[in-house]
Formats: sequence, structure tokens, C-alpha cells
Amino acid sequence: MQLIFLPVSTQAAVPKYMPNIAENINCVTARIAAATKATDHNANNIALLAVSKGQPLSAIQQAYQQGLRRFGENYLQEALDKKNQLADLADIEWHFIGPVQSNKTRKVAENFDWLHTIDRIKVAKRLNEQRPQELAPLNVCVQVNINNEDNKAGVTPEALSEIAIAITKLPRLKLRGLMAIPKATSNIEEQRHAFAKLAKLLKQLQNLSPELATLDTLSMGMSGDLEAAIAEGATLIRIGTDIFGQRQPSKHSN
Ligand SMILES: *Cc1c(COP(=O)(O)O)cnc(C)c1O
Repeated sequence: MQLIFLPVSTQAAVPKYMPNIAENINCVTARIAAATKATDHNANNIALLAVSKGQPLSAIQQAYQQGLRRFGENYLQEALDKKNQLADLADIEWHFIGPVQSNKTRKVAENFDWLHTIDRIKVAKRLNEQRPQELAPLNVCVQVNINNEDNKAGVTPEALSEIAIAITKLPRLKLRGLMAIPKATSNIEEQRHAFAKLAKLLKQLQNLSPELATLDTLSMGMSGDLEAAIAEGATLIRIGTDIFGQRQPSKHSN
């Protein structure tokens, strides 16, 4: 390791905790590979979504340089500012993973490739009307409140088929699958149980109709539970902290 001595004035400006994003991405990639070994999935088929909320532009640029192309944001204004400033990185695929208020659907429809958090038919209909014709249909996942938590967004398992069928009738949306944020727990059996429930719901949907048979996405797994998610069939994992380190608390609402 090389020691770099900085003048005192610059030292003060260096954050206490400087994540090594390249190293972190290698580490996450190795965890994905290890977790897929025990499954019949191929690590290359698991999409890594880098969750960059609360992170500076430079962090996204570094992850981009390491080859990541999928970025996820939770807060609309923060996301739009970043997308504007990174417009030259034109092959970034932007995912919106925060809650969508019905008066904010137009900006989501106009600016994102994916939305992971649909849980109301009304919002789906608005997005369908507002998706610009020159863009491909918006890829969407229905969010399921998999542990039935009072304070969490998402449809109940019972309400899932109705909204899924409604979305298949909206031509400017492309229903890709399901997303969940299970109750936080460090118990791997509890983690797996919640993810297994989501995987089962996807299977049941796929068997309902030809339009639903093509669903191909289970958006599940974050920094603390990606192994359990992959064990239960995740196709897309959403990783923030373990790529970028601690984030700034958001100054934005939505
Ligand atoms: C913030 C967030 C993540 C990333 O969480 P980490 O624990 O930092 O990996 C993933 N998904 C959603 C929906 C989030 O809001």
C-alpha cells in the first residue's frame, strides 16, 4: 500500500470513508458467482442493478467505468438531475425503484427504462398513456408486500393477478415480473422463505395465461440478502451499500 501525504487543508476535505467501488463490484460479482453455484442459474443471467440513490455522480461514473450499465434510483428529482448530468453515458439503463405518486407518473414514463414498484392499476394506466411513442414500452414489475407489513408498499398476494392481468392489456407497458422488499432480517432461513414466496407467485402467474407465461423477472435481493435471493431464483438484484458504501440521507421527498 502506498501512503499519500496530503497537505492539512486538503486532508480535511477527504471523506472519512472512501469506498473502493471497483473492489466492491468485484466482491459483489464474486458473491453472485458463489451464490449461483448452488442453483441451476448462470451468474451471467443475473442482472446487477447498482442502486445509486444518495450517491454522487462520480460514484456512478466509477461504476460505469467498471462496466455496470444498470442504475437504480428512488427519488424522482435526484434521479432526473443525475440522468441529465450523465446524458453522455447514453447506454445507461435507468431503473426507478422508489414509490411513484400518481402526479409524478409522466416524468417516470418519459425518463426511465424500468419501473419496479407498480402497485396500483390507476398508476399503470397513467404510465401507459404517458409513455412517449418514440420509446420502447416501459418495463415494469409489480411490487408485492410479501411479508404483509403495514408500512410497506406493494400489492397483497391475493390482489396480484388482477393487477398483472390489467397491465398485460396496456400496450405501452411491458410487464416483466415481480419485485419485493422483504422484512429486514439477518436470518437466512427467513430471508429465503420470503423470496421463495415471491418466486412461487411468479410461477402461479406464469401459469395463468399465455401473456403472463413470458414474465421473466424476479427483482429481489439487496446488499444484506443477495445470497438468499439468488438461492430462490432472483434474476435481478438491487445492490446499493455493498457497491457504493454508505449513502447520504436523501434531501428529497419524491
Ligand atoms: C435502497 C434500495 C436498495 C439497495 O439497498 P442496499 O441495502 O443498500 O443494497 C434496493 N432496493 C430498493 C427498493 C431500495 O430502495
